[in-house]
Formats: sequence, structure tokens, C-alpha cells
Amino acid sequence: MKLFEMKHIKKSFGALDVLRDISLEVDQGEVLSIIGPSGSGKSTLLRCATGLEIPDSGEIIKNGKIGLVFQNFNLFPHFSVIKNIADAPIKVQKRDKKEVYAQARELLKKMGLSDKENYYPYQLSGGQQQRVSIARALCMNPDILFFDEPTSALDPELTGEILKVIKDLAAEHITMVIVTHEMNFAKDISDRIIFMDDGLIAVEGTPQEVFSSEHVRMKEFLGKFH
Ligand code: ADP
Ligand code: MG
Repeated sequence: MKLFEMKHIKKSFGALDVLRDISLEVDQGEVLSIIGPSGSGKSTLLRCATGLEIPDSGEIIKNGKIGLVFQNFNLFPHFSVIKNIADAPIKVQKRDKKEVYAQARELLKKMGLSDKENYYPYQLSGGQQQRVSIARALCMNPDILFFDEPTSALDPELTGEILKVIKDLAAEHITMVIVTHEMNFAKDISDRIIFMDDGLIAVEGTPQEVFSSEHVRMKEFLGKFH
């Protein structure tokens, strides 16, 4: 079943054509990774997908709720950990406070942060903050979770703990779209990979297909990781 679809999406900022004709589909249970050079339009694609940006043309079909995890965590600095997680489900989704707090605590446990519920974001490491922001996204019960470079603001030694969390979510068959520069991770976790270049999908396929592609820009891009 298709959970999400983009058809011929275009987006420009002034004279800059950032998304030039993007069509993609995400199936239930699928892990799709998006790779590509800086400036190729990956974040703009996710922002259009999650409603933070309105495309100039094209169509977006959503069959379910969407969650987004940002590169820089975007936690509310003046809210405790638990309030960061529970606030939107209570205020936006109008859910029962007790039920939401129970779910938030369950998610904190899953993220290994049970002892941190009354901490504030500044008291946590980057990896812990990102785990809170993943818990916050999950507490909205999304059908698809989008990640925009979830580890690129983290020190290398903290990257692994976030990749592990995402891998655990994949094992639970949570549908995910992940923009990442972690090539081995993308190869390992993805059902399908998209390589974006200059506002277009240049290569798309299984990890094997994409990483063995002869596409010139793709090979050039991968060369930077060796
Ligand atoms: P990526 O995530 O692949 O690095 P982005 O989608 O962030 O790429 O950006 C693609 C291009 O669009 C870049 O040149 C960037 O400067 C530009 N851009 C992104 N957002 C805006 C904006 N709100 N206003 C103007 N230019 C933007
Ligand atoms: Mg980006």
C-alpha cells in the first residue's frame, strides 16, 4: 500500500529552481533513503513532503500522518524533556493528558532516557537530544517518519547511537524516509535509495543497484566518501 506520493513536484526560490520535477512513492513498511550533494534539494523535498513548504506545482498524496525529525533537533529549550514530547499530542491532537504522558514515558524508556524526563534540552548531549526529538515525533503516532540528516549535527561517537535507534525502528517496520550522508548505514538499512542531483532524482533503486550505478555524478559523489 502506498502511504505517500509526490507527483511532478516543482519548487523555486526566486530564480533558483530547487526541485525541478520530483516524483516518488513510499510504500507501507518501506525504508527509503535519500542521498545526494549539499544543495541538491533534499531538505526542500522533505519540507514540501511534511507541509513546511508549499510546492509551486505538482501533487502530494498523503495516506496518513507524517512526522519529521530535524537535523538540529528543534527541541523547545524552555520545555522539559517530557513536555517536549507530550505538548503537541495534547494541544494539537487534543488527546488525553494521562494517555499521552504514559506513551511519552514508554517512548523515553525505549530511547534509554527514562531518567531524563525532567531535564531540559541544554542538560543533554546531542545524541540524547536527538533521541528526545525522535520520541517526540513518534508520540504523534505518525504513519511515516521523515528524517533530515539526523546525525549530521552530532559528533562521530554519538552518531552510532542514533543510527541504532533508527535501525530498531526499521526492525519494527516503521515506514521511514531518511536523508543521510551515512552511506554504509543507507546501504544497510534501506529497501530503496534515491540519489538526488540538482533538483532531480538522478538514480533510484535498491542499495545494490544505486551503489553500483555508473551514473557519473553518483560515482563522483560516492568518491567523496572514500
Ligand atoms: P540540501 O538539503 O540537499 O543540501 P536544500 O534543499 O537545503 O538542499 O537547498 C537547496 C537549495 O535551495 C540551496 O541552494 C539552498 O540555498 C536553497 N534554499 C533552500 N531553502 C531556501 C529558502 N527558504 N530560500 C531561498 N533559498 C533556499
Ligand atoms: Mg539539507
